[in-house]
Amino acid sequence: MQKNLQIFQRLAEKLLEAEIEDPIASPIPASTLFETLPISLKDNPISEEAFEEILEKIILSTPRTATRLFFNQLFGGRNPKATLGDLVAVMLNNSMYTYKVAGPQVGIEKEIIRKSCDLVGYGRDSDGTFAPGGSMSNFMAIMMARDAFNSNIKNNGVSQKLTLYTSIESHYSIAKNAAFIGVGKKRVRYINTNQYGQMDPDHLEVKIKEDLQNGYHPFFVNATAGTTVLGAFDSIEPLSKICKKYSLWLHLDGAYCGSVIFSSKYKHLVKGIEKTDSFSYNAHKMIGTPLTCSIILTNHKKHLYDSFSNDASYLYQTDGDDYNLGKTSIQCGRRNDALKFWTVWKSVGTLGLEKIVDHQFYLAQVARDYILKNKDYTLYSFDDSISICFNYKNIPAQVLCTALYEHAEAMVGFGTFREIEFIRLITINSNNSEVEIINFFSILEDFAAKNETYLRQIALKESIPI
Ligand SMILES: *Cc1c(COP(=O)(O)O)cnc(C)c1O
Repeated sequence: MQKNLQIFQRLAEKLLEAEIEDPIASPIPASTLFETLPISLKDNPISEEAFEEILEKIILSTPRTATRLFFNQLFGGRNPKATLGDLVAVMLNNSMYTYKVAGPQVGIEKEIIRKSCDLVGYGRDSDGTFAPGGSMSNFMAIMMARDAFNSNIKNNGVSQKLTLYTSIESHYSIAKNAAFIGVGKKRVRYINTNQYGQMDPDHLEVKIKEDLQNGYHPFFVNATAGTTVLGAFDSIEPLSKICKKYSLWLHLDGAYCGSVIFSSKYKHLVKGIEKTDSFSYNAHKMIGTPLTCSIILTNHKKHLYDSFSNDASYLYQTDGDDYNLGKTSIQCGRRNDALKFWTVWKSVGTLGLEKIVDHQFYLAQVARDYILKNKDYTLYSFDDSISICFNYKNIPAQVLCTALYEHAEAMVGFGTFREIEFIRLITINSNNSEVEIINFFSILEDFAAKNETYLRQIALKESIPI
């Protein structure tokens, strides 16, 4: 083991150096990947030296998500304490299902859940667990809602025509989950949004009434804190009123920006959150822990148990249900996602988490100010969002993003709202400062200036309207 830890140390140092010198690894076309890198597996063993060399090559060819030029996804950067926590979790290799096997790690998970519930403002009957990502957190929320609507379904299967509601701007996992739980993708009702990308409560009520009249059974509404494209926050209060009126479960998908619960300045974006039935957030997004670190909370502990516990005499042999976390999880064997969050939280305190969140909104403001001051840019996104959506000199977003990536200049993605396609810059890497944000725009402008003809040719060739 010691030898392998030394290999790790050497390779990690090399990666850190490379990340500073070349923030973007030269991309390898997927079609030539297996010719370019020695990935294929053989019958015979290889020497330690060859092994380390190959591993180094692969590491240095892998896209770098922790660098100052990675703006492509709803995560980025590397929180050192969180990385340390995850490395320790790998060394310990517990499974979180029982206290017997996970010991103090159970307490660490429970402490994060408790503190999170308190920040949300849930009551004494609240609880939660760590799911394998935001999509699965949403899955667990829909499961609880389904069983809360009709507790026979888990034994007898779905026989009623159930319907659920989410905005057209919400995450695609809602549709997938509707298929998983037997409701069906066609029974997902997509609710319109306003000009800011927030769900329209009036349209929601119209849809619910329509379904009731047609013999359907509405049971679940999904609201979003930080929509995937614009980073918009649905207004919880009006949605909560409708859910109370029709007895529907209200879930808040905060995978992207639910961590605003840590910020006294931005918590108002989820005003009314304590009235939801469940809430999820990803610490691997705004908090910057390694993937994955997703937490699902509910104000009704009973439903978490009712939907996810199962007796298993071969597993649950000691201690009470409160400390045997397998009774409320989706998996059986479950990796320790709590420790990496706890190591950051413990070291910087709740006030430190607040600073991390606030800094991302500050960087977003820096980016928006830059865009608004420069006539070559058009801004499409709004205040109170860490997704900055814009176009530059009418160059098609898709063409510009792909060219920046293929030339290893910067990693940034594109999105669409109301049929307008734009570049989507995410200021979620809290290691960045103003300098890195302005630097991104300089790189983009220099690149566009040098390659304008080329960019327009590609757009023409792919018949993307200019
Ligand atoms: C990222 C995201 C998800 C999915 O989370 P994963 O951890 O990637 O599964 C769900 N909802 C929203 C709003 C997201 O931004």
